[in-house]
Amino acid sequence: MTRPNDLITRSRAAVWHPCTQMKALDAVPPLAIVRGEGAWLIDADGKRYLDAISSWWVNLFGHAHPRINAALTDQLGQMAHVMLAGCTHAPVVELSERLAALSGLGHAFYASDGASATEIALKMSFHYWRNTGQPEKRRFISLKNSYHGETLGALSVTDVALFKDTYAALLNDSHQVMSPDARQAAPGETASDVARRAAADLEAWLTEHAATTAALIVEPLVQGATGMAMYDADYLRLARALCDQFNIHLIADEIAVGFGRTGTFFACEQAGITADFLLLSKGITGGYLPLACVLTTDTVYAAFYDDATARGFLHSHSYTGNPLACRAALAVLDIFATEAVLERNSQTAAQFNALLEPVRHHPRVRHFRQTGMIWAFDVVDAPPGFADHWQLAARAQGILMRPIGATVYFMPPYILDEAALQHLATTTLALLDRGT
Ligand SMILES: *Cc1c(COP(=O)(O)O)cnc(C)c1O
Repeated sequence: MTRPNDLITRSRAAVWHPCTQMKALDAVPPLAIVRGEGAWLIDADGKRYLDAISSWWVNLFGHAHPRINAALTDQLGQMAHVMLAGCTHAPVVELSERLAALSGLGHAFYASDGASATEIALKMSFHYWRNTGQPEKRRFISLKNSYHGETLGALSVTDVALFKDTYAALLNDSHQVMSPDARQAAPGETASDVARRAAADLEAWLTEHAATTAALIVEPLVQGATGMAMYDADYLRLARALCDQFNIHLIADEIAVGFGRTGTFFACEQAGITADFLLLSKGITGGYLPLACVLTTDTVYAAFYDDATARGFLHSHSYTGNPLACRAALAVLDIFATEAVLERNSQTAAQFNALLEPVRHHPRVRHFRQTGMIWAFDVVDAPPGFADHWQLAARAQGILMRPIGATVYFMPPYILDEAALQHLATTTLALLDRGT
C-alpha cells in the first residue's frame, strides 16, 4: 500500500508542481489523491474531499464517469493515437462536425492545452491580415486583469502581474482596455452601465489604433484567473459591434467558460454574438485528457486556402487531434445531448443560491456574485496568507478549494446533489464565522 506521506515526500523531491512556490509546500503540502468517484477525490488515507473547483475547472461530470470511461476503453481497443498531418480519423471528424453545429464556426484546429489555443488564435489572426494584404495589423488588445495562458504569446495578452511581470522582457507588446468587471459600478450604476463605459474605452483605443490592431481577445462573461470577475453580456454585444466597425477580429477565449459553465453552452450565446475565433479546452474532455480547439469562420479559413504552402497555417503539435481525447470530448457532448444538463444546472444553481443566502449576507462578504455554475465572493478582512489558510481549513472539512487572493469561489462539477451543496454552504459559513 502507498502511504500518503511517502508520496508527498517523493513528489516534493521529484515533481516540480505548477503555479507553486515549491518552498511554500512546507505550509501547504500537496494532497496525495489515489482515486476519484463522482464529485469526490479520495486520498491515500481514504479521506474524501469534495472537488468544489472541478480540479482546476476541467471536471464537468465528476471523476470516473461511466460514459466517458466506456468511450475511452472502446477507443483504446482501436487506436490510441495517429498523427493528424497526412492522416485523419473518425473521432476528430465527428467532433469537428459537432462543434461546428454547436458554435456556427465550421473549421476546427486542435492543440493540447488552452495556452496553445491562444497562441494559435493570435498567429491565425495575424496571418489572416497578412494573407489579405494588411500585414501592419499585428497588435493585440485584451481586457485589464485578463488571463489567456502562460506561454509567451498567451502571457503577452494576459494581465495578471504575478504571472507576467517577471517575464516582461520576453513578451510582445499588447494593450489592455478597461475591463467591464461589474464590481467597478459606482453608486447608482448598473453592470450594464459599467459595460458601456468599458466599451467606450475600447472604442477610444480603436479610433486611434485600429489600422495596426489584429484582434481583441476576451474571456466572455467571467474573467476567471483574476478572481472570477463577472460582467454584463452587453459588453460582448458592444465589443462585437466595435470589432466589426473597426475591422478587427474578436477572439472569444471560452477555455474556462465554455461547455455550460455560465448557464448557456457557450457564454457568447448570452450576448447573441459569434466570435471570429472561439477557444475551447478545460471542460472539453470532461477533465479526462488534454485537448484544445480553435474554431473559426469560413472567411478566415478561405484566406489561407491557396496554392502557396506558406499561405497555409503550418502550425502543429505532435498530439494534435488525439483520438482518445476526441472520444472523451464526444462522450461529453453525448452527455449534454441526452441528459438536459443545462436545465439541471439551472435548478442546481437556484438550490445552491438559496443555501448560500447566509454567506451572501455575511458581514465579511463583499460582491457575492454568480453566473451559471460559478459562484464567488470577496472577503473584506482577508489577512495575509488568506488563500492558504482557507484552503487548509476547507481540506480539514473535506473540501478541495483554492481561493484566488481574497476571492473565494466555487466552480463545482455539474453533478452535486443536495447533501454536497449543503456541505459546501455550511462549511463556507463556518469558515467565515470563525475568521479563517
Ligand atoms: C486556463 C485558461 C487558459 C490556459 O489553459 P491551459 O490549458 O492552462 O494552458 C487560457 N484561458 C483561460 C480563460 C483559462 O481559464
